[in-house]
Amino acid sequence: MLEILRRIIEEVNCAPDLDQALALIVRRVKQAMSVDLCSVYLTDYVNHQHVLMATEGLNPESVGQVRLGIGEGLVGLVGERNEPVNLDDAPQHLRYRYCPGSGEEQYHAFLGVPIVHHRKLLGVLVVQRRKPIRFDESELSFMITIAAQLAGGIAHAEASGGVSGLHQSPGEPSIPENRPLQGLAGAPGVGIGTAVVVYPHADLNAIPDRQPDDPEQEENAFYTAVEAVKKDIRALSARLEKVLPAEELALFEAYIMLLDSGTLSNRVIEHIRAGNWVQGALRDTINEHVRIFQEMDDPYLSERSDDIRDLGLRILAYLQENPRTQPRYPDQTVLVAEEITATMLAEVPAGQLTGIVSTRGSRSSHIAILCRAMGVPAVMGAKNLPVSRIDGREIITDGYTGRVYISPSDEVRAEFARLSREETELAAGLSHLRDLPAETGDGVRIPLYINSGLIADIAPSRDSGAEGIGLYRTEFPFLVAEHFPGEEQQLQIYRTVLESFAPQPVTLRTLDVGGDKSLPYFPIEEDNPFLGWRGIRITLDHPEIFLVQLRAMLRANHRLGNLRLLLPMISSVSEVDESLQLIRRAHHELSEELGVQLDRPQIGVMIEVPAAVYQSDALAQRVDFLSIGSNDLTQYLLAVDRNNSRVADLFDSLHPAVLRALLQVVENAHRFGKEVSVCGEMAGDPAAAILLLGMGMDSLSMTVSGLPRIKWVIRSFTKQQAVTLLNEVLAMDDVHMIRQHLTQALEQAGLGGLIRAGK
Ligand code: PEP
Ligand code: MG
Repeated sequence: MLEILRRIIEEVNCAPDLDQALALIVRRVKQAMSVDLCSVYLTDYVNHQHVLMATEGLNPESVGQVRLGIGEGLVGLVGERNEPVNLDDAPQHLRYRYCPGSGEEQYHAFLGVPIVHHRKLLGVLVVQRRKPIRFDESELSFMITIAAQLAGGIAHAEASGGVSGLHQSPGEPSIPENRPLQGLAGAPGVGIGTAVVVYPHADLNAIPDRQPDDPEQEENAFYTAVEAVKKDIRALSARLEKVLPAEELALFEAYIMLLDSGTLSNRVIEHIRAGNWVQGALRDTINEHVRIFQEMDDPYLSERSDDIRDLGLRILAYLQENPRTQPRYPDQTVLVAEEITATMLAEVPAGQLTGIVSTRGSRSSHIAILCRAMGVPAVMGAKNLPVSRIDGREIITDGYTGRVYISPSDEVRAEFARLSREETELAAGLSHLRDLPAETGDGVRIPLYINSGLIADIAPSRDSGAEGIGLYRTEFPFLVAEHFPGEEQQLQIYRTVLESFAPQPVTLRTLDVGGDKSLPYFPIEEDNPFLGWRGIRITLDHPEIFLVQLRAMLRANHRLGNLRLLLPMISSVSEVDESLQLIRRAHHELSEELGVQLDRPQIGVMIEVPAAVYQSDALAQRVDFLSIGSNDLTQYLLAVDRNNSRVADLFDSLHPAVLRALLQVVENAHRFGKEVSVCGEMAGDPAAAILLLGMGMDSLSMTVSGLPRIKWVIRSFTKQQAVTLLNEVLAMDDVHMIRQHLTQALEQAGLGGLIRAGK
């Protein structure tokens, strides 16, 4: 059964659109379960109906015609209860509802299972038999499994508009539903534009569908590529004549025959004429042939599917050499890819990039950091984005919530256009705050620093009115290098950063790799990387790497004296003691080497692991300051992977458990007379900033784009109001209530425009 399941899922995933996928599902499930009928209904929330989308067993003409109101019939019962309904004689059931003309009267046994994605009902999968015998447990399990597996694919095909007829009552125009896809907020802002799908070369399945400008040109390009491949194969075969046995050489002949026979070519041409460009046509043709071969029972023939794929890749390589295949970038380009590289960003002409969507990566991927520095809204980790089907479509990236809207309706577009306008107005409106202090109505000052990781964002940071750098993530220069950067190279970078803000403080964090940040030249393979070898654990295990970095930082600080040194991922006091020893050693050795007494920097510890919260008193006694990394702290306290879009809704630093942890850290730091700040994303969230102010944080550090807003928040409240709000919130035990309460407070203070920047 498992093998059948796997095959069905694989085939469905290769189907060109959802209509075909649904047709395939009903065919295959009917076969696999030896039933007399299989149908799939999808739920149309616009018209409040379950619509028959595909069937094997009912009258084919009833597809799109049979529409049951939500809650109507047995299908409605499955949807209503969100659980399977298994009956030996459906027509006897009270909720049975006969649809004339469908031909369902011949069937008795009924099994319907809900198709659910992220708690939302997408539809119902039904099987029936003529004989009135209940389905057994293994059949029930099979149906539940297949419905659960298919749900993701259906959800995303729907979101990308891949379902025809779902929302059309007969004779009605299609109403786009605008269900967004959920990814991760990568860089704030709203980007509205045209999707340009970029893809790695020689990856057939990454190729998007695209309308050809001139089908004839596409056909010619195909034939030229085929000729080039044939020539290559002949040359290869001639070269290997003396090396390979005859049966292996015969394979080359078989390749040439296949290319000559027209089996592939005719199909490619058909796909082009049906409206796809040559690369998309090639992808579909190769996938079709691979499938045919894979389904053959003969293992030898089944393995030939690899040869077909190989041939496809060879043709593709020639097609991609053709400059005509380079994407054209519209004025408002939203770059979409499985993995966006810095080169892909660079290829978009200046001023035309309005957003990016990547199916991989997270907030901490360096593309996200780059986008934040460039002010380009980004959604990362949009795992289920149907990349191959959206090239050229209008797309909205909401970099605040991590949502992506494909082919939005007029209403949704207008709403986002309004938001985008408001953003620009807000930014302009806040520019006057630049030189004003971040000071509450009752005169409490709280310095605002910025988080950085790039030399490129230093200038905008200086212009933002920030009072220093609260977190410089040094891993970025390590990530873009080809090997560990040397002391001199690091010195240059740190010096530039320290100089640009001197005499204001600059906090350089020691290398925090591991977790999701792996260096290409220092790969770490772990099952659980966030609980593994990361941050200080790596640098203490590699003093040779740590010492080079410490020396570079201390040297950069010479005659400037504004360095604050921050240790990441501390989970026990021994890590701090060992780090302090290495810092003292580097300081001592350098002072001797250079013959000068170097300044001693302030040293701080990041509080981002629950263990550090509970030992913040012991930690505070050892160092000069504490800095709370709320991104990791939230992840570890709530057990929510910060990079997993499936649980993105659960990640909220306003969770009561996080708030209590922060209070404890503030209390412990202040008990020992040490400063404490927040440098995670929470500090840039207007709702959270009020609470951090109320808690008595000594400073906040955030991305540069968020700084003016937080300054506005601080200047709009008194410390006393913030304390009152904090106390009110501490009496609440539900994160949603807390957010709602703070949202109201922002609105009442006239800061409603900031609410989107939250979370
Ligand atoms: C954090 O964890 O909150 C933090 C600031 O560090 P990073 O996001 O780099 O892990
Ligand atoms: Mg962290």
